[in-house]
Amino acid sequence: MNNAVFRLERPHNEPVYRYDPDSEEVRQLQEEILRQSKACVDIPLIIGGREIRTGDTAEVRMPHDHGHRLAVYHKAGRAEVALAIESALAAKDAWMNLAWEERVSISLKAAELLGKKYRNLINAATILGQSKNIQQAEIDAACETIDYFRFNAYFASEIYRDQPMSSQLMLNRIEYRPLEGFVYAVTPFNFTAIASNLNMSPAIMGNVTVWKPSDTAILSNYYLMKLLQEAGVPDGVINFVPGDGPLVSGVVFAHREFAGLHFTGSNGTFNRLWRQIAENLDNYRSYPRVVGETGGKDFIFAHNSADLGALSTAIALGAFEYQGQKCSAASRAYIPASIWPQLEGELCARVAKILMGDAADAENLMGAVIDERAFDKIAGFLERAKVSPDVEVIAGGGSDKSKGYFVEPTILLCKNPHYETMETELFGPVMSVYIYDDDKFEETLALCNETSPYALTGSIFSNDRYAAMKACDALRYAAGNFYFNDKPTGAVVGQQPFGGSRASGTNDKAGGRFNLLRWVSPRTIKENLTPPTDVCYPHMF
Ligand code: NAD
Repeated sequence: MNNAVFRLERPHNEPVYRYDPDSEEVRQLQEEILRQSKACVDIPLIIGGREIRTGDTAEVRMPHDHGHRLAVYHKAGRAEVALAIESALAAKDAWMNLAWEERVSISLKAAELLGKKYRNLINAATILGQSKNIQQAEIDAACETIDYFRFNAYFASEIYRDQPMSSQLMLNRIEYRPLEGFVYAVTPFNFTAIASNLNMSPAIMGNVTVWKPSDTAILSNYYLMKLLQEAGVPDGVINFVPGDGPLVSGVVFAHREFAGLHFTGSNGTFNRLWRQIAENLDNYRSYPRVVGETGGKDFIFAHNSADLGALSTAIALGAFEYQGQKCSAASRAYIPASIWPQLEGELCARVAKILMGDAADAENLMGAVIDERAFDKIAGFLERAKVSPDVEVIAGGGSDKSKGYFVEPTILLCKNPHYETMETELFGPVMSVYIYDDDKFEETLALCNETSPYALTGSIFSNDRYAAMKACDALRYAAGNFYFNDKPTGAVVGQQPFGGSRASGTNDKAGGRFNLLRWVSPRTIKENLTPPTDVCYPHMF
């Protein structure tokens, strides 16, 4: 019997390992990278806790060495997707009726397992399979995932504690019911942590999920699934179903018990899924919750009072870490003409120092972009930019896919503030810069606000507080995560809840209680301690 009144303390963020050269940390990680490089893992579906091999397979290859196969994974057919839904629904009652303290205990255990036993395994899989450098894998696959496990447990406890007032005559309570049905989690390639969170945030609130991982993050995602199983997530609560997106979605959206979509990925995919849901609306038991975090065209806006060292570093790291494949990556900058000549020199000097190559080599800040489709798309933008009269390529511009999908860190100086790379999400290491007249600060803020359909992240660099406040006001709806004198990437769970609006998504703020609230359907229960026994009002007696 569990009769404890349980209260969790606010957790601390997981400390980031430094991986200094010659440290024991780096030695162990390199050993694991080598072990995984030599293996070829056979990755099954995991449905109702059972491994299923369909024989319909595809390969996982290293983006920075595409001749190197890391794994073969099995893809779901319609029958397996249907089975995953049935397994989820069969697991539902026991899971939602388990005391919430037991569910959060599993999440906290997952955090401990990842912090120790699984850290190198999942970091190495992220480095090899998604071409993240060691530091980027550590802050994502290890630290952010652990933070989600711990902070979601804490926020869940806060939500359950939040109860309406009662009185001497009545008792009121809110029962935070999970959604009626199952949740469909569709996850992106670029953050291992997001893949975990899109499943675990609904699950911690008592929901069950069907999980379609990204084709290009299958290796790390498979190990995450194994970790969750070892942490004690019961069979059927999360069902790992790699496969063709449209096929999986077709079966999921046709099901009456589909209760919610938890998505992160591109704006185009999200719109397609939302339309499909809308078309099936009459078939559902409830209005599904649709939560999606999508693309960005994230900006750095400089005032002429900005510190140039901080600004040039923010542009270089914000645009080029993880090859510009963070939804929050800086990809357009607005720079006043008076500071540009000096900034250009500093920026190009910083970019010249960036090394690119094998993601496992600690010297390299950049690895490869995720796959050939991404490479071809970005290279197409670069080829057009090179011949455009509106653009001057001031750094990089080259690309080579012979061994891996490598795109140089590139800076485009755009004369036209509406040139395609100022507006469109490229999802690659390309920064577009527009120079404005110093006396057009406010007009340029308006231009920045209106230029792109997205509104995810953005920064203002200014040492003039009035200018910073002007930017903060003018760009109120241009970013859901806004930074003063910092790059627009690197949000930390519990510190900067993450998400944007406009075409960037539903802004339900992963890593905060807002998100968890989307996965419950509260029931209010009133108990009258002294029910009336007469139809007359008091004054009628
Ligand atoms: P994507 O849209 O190509 O894929 C996302 C997921 O959707 C993958 O699992 C993919 O297989 C799946 N998918 C595609 N079509 C589908 C369909 N019809 N049915 C079901 N699933 C389908 O995105 P991506 O390339 O993996 O990720 C990059 C995008 O994600 C960028 O636009 C980036 O900005 C965005 N992103 C946003 C955030 C955020 O918090 N706002 C975070 C990370 C990534």
